[in-house]
Amino acid sequence: MTRHSLISPSATISAMRALFATVVVLLVLGCSAAEQAAAPSAAAGATMLTADPDWANLTDAQWKERLTREQYEVLRRKGTEAPFCGGYTTFKANGAGIYACSGCGQALFESKTSFTSGTGWPSFFAPIAGAVASEEDRSHGMVRTEVHCSRCRGHLGHVFDDGPAPTGLRYCINAVSLAFKPAQQSATAAANEAVATFGAGCFWGVEAVFRAIPGVTGTAVGYMGGSTRNPTYRDVCGGDTGHVEVCEVRYDPAKVSFGKLLLVFFENHDPTTVDRQGPDVGVQYRSVVFTHDQAQVEQTKALIAAIDASKRLPRRVVTLVQPAQTFWRAEEYHQRYAEKHGHGACHLPHGKTFADLLQ
Ligand SMILES: [Zn+2]
Repeated sequence: MTRHSLISPSATISAMRALFATVVVLLVLGCSAAEQAAAPSAAAGATMLTADPDWANLTDAQWKERLTREQYEVLRRKGTEAPFCGGYTTFKANGAGIYACSGCGQALFESKTSFTSGTGWPSFFAPIAGAVASEEDRSHGMVRTEVHCSRCRGHLGHVFDDGPAPTGLRYCINAVSLAFKPAQQSATAAANEAVATFGAGCFWGVEAVFRAIPGVTGTAVGYMGGSTRNPTYRDVCGGDTGHVEVCEVRYDPAKVSFGKLLLVFFENHDPTTVDRQGPDVGVQYRSVVFTHDQAQVEQTKALIAAIDASKRLPRRVVTLVQPAQTFWRAEEYHQRYAEKHGHGACHLPHGKTFADLLQ
């Protein structure tokens, strides 16, 4: 398969991608390692999503479609998994990273707040600020405090006041409610890093272009903006999941600005073609900036307006500006592909520059 990317309008290059004995739990679900390990079902008849769903208002049917049976029973029916299940075993083996809601992907807990409680359920002493909400739970003849994801209201577990310092709290969470993202694969940057996410055609070349920019501290290629979880390259290639091939760019704002990254993005691909970069045609190649904060939104929209007003490109910019969603890291062989295979960026600048248009 020939892959081309950031294509010059004039040049076509041939180059080418987790037994809590003291709590009587009546609704303990069966513990099936196989089910724990099962990937969430791909949404049947997946529809193309160009923005995150309205998580708080998905219907029961929509949740059933998105989740495995065990995820649905816990997240949507407030069930409790049996302790020491396969998911807990996996939890124990995880290293540094982020635990996200397995329903909607919102980051919930950092691994550094986890501890060994001996209960058989993942335990944390603090959630990420604002990520977890709680309410009184008087079910099963007990008074407990139930905790759920603040975005999709998916049930996570309970919080008790017998945890360790510094909070004295113990968030007792069902492993099936959690999706682990290793530190190096998460979009959570270090303190001095910021993150930008771009879709500009074949991610091999996009990554190569950004890796060459001083101040860029790390890159990864993956998929974003689609309707299914854990997409594979094959899924995305089919174009049915709606994901875009993206490059996640981590950078030091003291050394390179988001605006400079925007210039690199707009000057190295054709932002005027819908779902296409040169010979690469499909929704996975759409031109898109997935924004991580309001400043990125405003700066991107301002530059697009300025480029259009300048009439330097033959057609209007069609680049989408959307809030960043879950970044699904692509298979390892796609990472730093251009470097591994001895060719440089397969993307070529189109010759127009926009630095003077940046606000
Ligand atoms: Zn959620």
